[in-house]
Amino acid sequence: MEHPMDAVIVGAGPAGIGMALTLDKLPGIRYCILESDRIGESFRRWPQQTRLITPSFHSNPFGLADLNAVNEPSSPAIYTGAEHPSGEQYANYLGFMAQAHQLPVVSGCKVQQVQALSDGGFHLVTEKGPLATRFLIWATGEYQFPDLQPFPGASLCPHYAQVSSWADFDAPACTVIGGYESGVDAAFHLVQLGKQVRLLVRKSTWDPDGSYDPSLSLSPYSRERLYQAVDSGRLEIVFGVNVVKVVRGSAGNWRVRAADGRHWECAQPPILGTGFLKGGGARQIADLWEWNEEGRILLSDADESTRTPGLFLVGPQVRHDHRIYCFIYKFRQRFAAVASQIAQRLDSDPSALQGQGGAWGPFGNSDCCEGCEC
Ligand SMILES: Cc1cc2nc3c(=O)[nH]c(=O)nc-3n(C[C@H](O)[C@H](O)[C@H](O)COP(=O)(O)OP(=O)(O)OC[C@H]3O[C@@H](n4cnc5c(N)ncnc54)[C@H](O)[C@@H]3O)c2cc1C
Repeated sequence: MEHPMDAVIVGAGPAGIGMALTLDKLPGIRYCILESDRIGESFRRWPQQTRLITPSFHSNPFGLADLNAVNEPSSPAIYTGAEHPSGEQYANYLGFMAQAHQLPVVSGCKVQQVQALSDGGFHLVTEKGPLATRFLIWATGEYQFPDLQPFPGASLCPHYAQVSSWADFDAPACTVIGGYESGVDAAFHLVQLGKQVRLLVRKSTWDPDGSYDPSLSLSPYSRERLYQAVDSGRLEIVFGVNVVKVVRGSAGNWRVRAADGRHWECAQPPILGTGFLKGGGARQIADLWEWNEEGRILLSDADESTRTPGLFLVGPQVRHDHRIYCFIYKFRQRFAAVASQIAQRLDSDPSALQGQGGAWGPFGNSDCCEGCEC
């Protein structure tokens, strides 16, 4: 069957835009990017005060690409003038990249349904009509898919991903649940705004027990800010807390219960910094992936679905054994592996991709973490 598209990328975040910049190097390829809202939509929804935790620095001419760049020559540090860009600044960088490279992005075009065809290829139902493609690259991220039910009563609490500004919290005291990046970020900003904050954590993610991988332990940027918040005297950290329930008290307050019987009364609903759904946006097409018992997606060496040939995953959900690709500087290393698979099957010349990955660091295209801690 002849498909009008060789490849469709779903999602125009850093994974979708970066993947498109790589695919664009293949001569004659017919592809497009479908985005449900705007380019960089997840970043545009970040709380106003949130900043990228990985620093941006224009080290590119010396073979070390900016950690937050989606292709080798560009640098968010140069574009935004910031070492830790805001969500909006980063989204604008993505928009600039799409425009400068004339990427075929269709905004306001949510992919509503995907059908894998028996003779290969995919039939997509989108907000702007049907579309058929030979290859499908899923790049829908995690941020817009928060886990809103980590324990009973969680629906009473705002999730980090539902906050547009920490200044909207007008109570003098707040409770935050979760001790990794988003919980610590929430606590830091609330302390900055003069609040008294109680942070309930299972265990410290800032005393690494053997691993310095930022996918597993708190980044230096957040660690520094956490110590700053502690020094203010307005942050109380309670360790060993496994929250099992939040209930409304008779006095109109909120009660947080832990597995060990401890509980805390809050005048405001506690804030959830408890993370996102495993698989994130890939759950929209859950049947097309094979899932392991931990709720992770199984992929081939080229990041292709082990259940549906022709379907590829790019972005923070990609994992290979102990390697977790949940930062931009990590998952961009996989773009060339996906593009070269597609090039081979389209009989396109993959030599156009040569050199891709060179400035991504000493580990080459696909094995970002070989030989390091993560
Ligand atoms: C608070 C916070 C701070 C972070 N800081 C950093 C950092 O400093 N450095 C770093 O590397 N990473 C950081 N991350 C992680 C980083 O944001 C993610 O890894 C990154 O956004 C993933 O990019 P993505 O393109 O896969 O997903 P997204 O940026 O979420 O993009 C996915 C896109 O897909 C679209 N979409 C979803 N479903 C559909 C559909 N059905 N049809 C069409 N379009 C669809 C969405 O609208 C969205 O635009 C942070 C995350 C958080 C939450």
